[in-house]
Amino acid sequence: MFSKILIANRGEIALRVLRACKELGIATVAVHSTADADAMHVRLADESVCIGPPSSRESYLNIHQIVAACEITGADAVHPGYGFLSENAKFAEILEAHGITFIGPTSEHIRMMGDKITAKTTAEDLGIPVVPGSAGSVDTDDDAFRTAEEIGYPVLIKATAGGGGRGMKLARSKDDLIEAYRTARGEAGAAFGNDSVYMEKYLDKPRHIEVQVFGDGEGDAVHLGERDCSLQRRHQKVWEEANSPALNVEQRMKIGEICADAMRKMKYRGAGTVEFLYENGEFYFIEMNTRLQVEHPITEAITGIDLVHEQIRVAAGAGLSVTQKDITFSGHAIECRINAENAATFRPSPGTITHFHAPGGLGVRIDSGVYQGYKIPPYYDSLIGKLIVHGRTRVECMMRLKRALDEFVVDGIDTTLPLFQDLIANQDIANGDYDIHWLEHYLENKP
Ligand code: ADP
Repeated sequence: MFSKILIANRGEIALRVLRACKELGIATVAVHSTADADAMHVRLADESVCIGPPSSRESYLNIHQIVAACEITGADAVHPGYGFLSENAKFAEILEAHGITFIGPTSEHIRMMGDKITAKTTAEDLGIPVVPGSAGSVDTDDDAFRTAEEIGYPVLIKATAGGGGRGMKLARSKDDLIEAYRTARGEAGAAFGNDSVYMEKYLDKPRHIEVQVFGDGEGDAVHLGERDCSLQRRHQKVWEEANSPALNVEQRMKIGEICADAMRKMKYRGAGTVEFLYENGEFYFIEMNTRLQVEHPITEAITGIDLVHEQIRVAAGAGLSVTQKDITFSGHAIECRINAENAATFRPSPGTITHFHAPGGLGVRIDSGVYQGYKIPPYYDSLIGKLIVHGRTRVECMMRLKRALDEFVVDGIDTTLPLFQDLIANQDIANGDYDIHWLEHYLENKP
């Protein structure tokens, strides 16, 4: 087992990883920018190293500084969390070259899934169903026309290097194709320094359903069921649940087994998420994330398995602690992402939290790095915490969520808590009847 893990992240996920390390008796190193000197994970870590100024580029994305922090502190492994360097193949390679373990998959697998065209062809070869689309990149206006005719309108143009929904444009007919195509390329070039795009059939009313997988890197792999992340705003997940209200046990086990089998064939190592759109009973692969996801706690709630423990075990070569038949799904879990944003305008709201009271009680979990008196810096994303609620049934889970939301107090800044108060009272949400467009329509039509 590792003796010291450096956590190359900030906020709630840094604290989440720190907690797992403590439970496993592993010493921790926090790294932080000057803006995060008084963050909770820095206070709780055994050691901390300041790695640069507030800008992420000069701190949390600064590979050189993070490797130096490992060397100074003698850390033998790095947990990257999500975002920042978690899907950076070069970072994984540089760590390995320094004899430091990257807690995640091989750099080869990160690279393969980071390029969305390669990811899609790989998935298809491994027996995973994919969205119909272009065979590879779409490189010219003519190419775009031909491909769109073949696929059939509406089509979606997506960035090969995409992420966070950027560089994604819809064309409903041939009249808006060229503009959408050129805009997508322009956005992709600006956001990722790579203007390569591909094309997919646009699915009208799908749900976003993703399967949690875990591999030991030696050819064994399991799935931990799915999460339904259909409630999105601007392609960003807002509310997630497990299991999906749309699937039955047979469908769950079938898609789960397809994904686990693909991971066995790949000899995938560590945690991964295979993302699908789901429409009319069919699954369509869109991408794979080769890291821990923000919404992983709902899977933990219904399986009782600590995914970060498991990541650390696998990275240390100790293998998976469970086999597929040990994994059972119990009850229902929902996660609400609480952002420091106005719940109506979604304008970021950094500043000082003057009063903070987190809900508690049976089946309630808060993953958050904030506290009363904490000043949210304006430099990073606005997620300040996650409320995760578990119940024996979906109905019990919703009742518990309502009660937990009523207890939650965050003063001094705006948060998205009122949005969840509204959602919990909505009939479609109560019925589990929503697709990936539901939330945007709801927000547009709200009085
Ligand atoms: P990114 O990596 O930029 O987040 P994804 O491929 O994961 O891109 O897609 C993000 C979201 O965009 C999906 O959750 C879904 O809401 C929407 N989307 C992606 N592909 C399609 C498609 N073919 N049809 C309809 N919606 C799509």
